Amino acid sequence: MSIEKAVSLLDDMVRPFEGIEQIDLGACVGRTLAMEIRTPISLPPFDASAMDGYAIRIDKDTPTNRFEVIGESLAGHPFEGTVDTHQCTRIFTGAMLADGANAVVLQEDVKQSGDFVVVDPEQVLRVDMNVRRKGSEIMQEDVLLDAGEVISDFHVGLLASCGIETVKVKRKPVVAVFSTGDELQDPGNELETGQIYDSNRISLHQLLRHHAVEIVDLGRIPDDPAETRARLQEASGEADLLLTSGGVSVGDSDYVRPAVEALGTLTFWNIALKPGKPLAVGRIQDCLFFGLPGNPVSAVVTYLLFVNRALELLTNTKTQDPLKLTATLTNQVRHSIGRREYQRGRLEQKNGRLHVKAVTDQSSNRLTSFANANCLIEVDEAVGDLSSGTVVQVVLLNQRSSHIWTL
Ligand code: AMP
Ligand code: MG
Repeated sequence: MSIEKAVSLLDDMVRPFEGIEQIDLGACVGRTLAMEIRTPISLPPFDASAMDGYAIRIDKDTPTNRFEVIGESLAGHPFEGTVDTHQCTRIFTGAMLADGANAVVLQEDVKQSGDFVVVDPEQVLRVDMNVRRKGSEIMQEDVLLDAGEVISDFHVGLLASCGIETVKVKRKPVVAVFSTGDELQDPGNELETGQIYDSNRISLHQLLRHHAVEIVDLGRIPDDPAETRARLQEASGEADLLLTSGGVSVGDSDYVRPAVEALGTLTFWNIALKPGKPLAVGRIQDCLFFGLPGNPVSAVVTYLLFVNRALELLTNTKTQDPLKLTATLTNQVRHSIGRREYQRGRLEQKNGRLHVKAVTDQSSNRLTSFANANCLIEVDEAVGDLSSGTVVQVVLLNQRSSHIWTL
């Protein structure tokens, strides 16, 4: 099955997760707003000075540049009285303008003499000068953020400045992760003969942390058909999305796919993708199921291509497809026609142009190929080997700002 076909089946099967919860502002970055937020107050909440100086009362009928100083207004300590014509108060940035004051002159532009200040005659006095009027940024009841918006680091300060303490967001779906395989051992333990360390479970766990999901680690399933079925059935009752690695190929001990077929439906399997051909996607009752390949590079690539997308659809955070950049290959890439390949590469900018070098060893079991990689090079299914100098498309890894792929 082509990647496009698989992606379109995926888009059809994933519906946004329902449910709303109210959470603290400090925990809301990355969450999707369930409803629009309007500000309960205007910003600024009062007429305030933008400068250190004097809050004067300009009267256009009796112009003057000499004002009697009758008090002081500090940030958080307003002057309680009223400023009459030809009067002023000392004022500092952020302090509230006293009743009657209608402009601020900078302290550099006045001379003090006794209880009076005299404004430099060069200065043209205008009502509202150096004043931040109440509501000039946002009026009470204005919309701050729309429903469906994903809250960013920058939104949080804005919400706080309006006094908002909690927000209503979409609930987090539960994502459960298993690895499978009798050969696996946890890091920290001695390897017995024939064992390797389980890296997929922790690496998927880390990748999942970039999404607004509740992650549940369900450990490891041994290569046993009955136990595989039982564990997947149990997990599907508790999770909204189930992620496994390994056991989806065509080996004698690959029991995951048959278990999904027995318990639910397999929507697609066997994609024209390298690495990641055996990816198995389906559903067990209401739970979405992703059986990622066991090879660590394949698990990561299929996660990036398919699971990321599903999670963005599920959590309502999808804004666009991953951005693709155009770059010039600086080495030769081997590729056999038939499957789309995503090779790890290192993208660099030289004299304003993007150059990309494919990592030398592209074996799907070698996580070291990710070590220096900052992008995936897309190699079309219809082309063969690519020579140095070929223009290719790449997708960045490791950046969340402008696209959805992360490592
Ligand atoms: P499988 O599809 O289960 O045959 O796995 C393919 C390859 O990936 C085998 O070499 C497995 O040992 C390896 N593998 C499977 N699961 C993991 C894992 N969680 N961590 C590291 N390697 C794995
Ligand atoms: Mg296995």
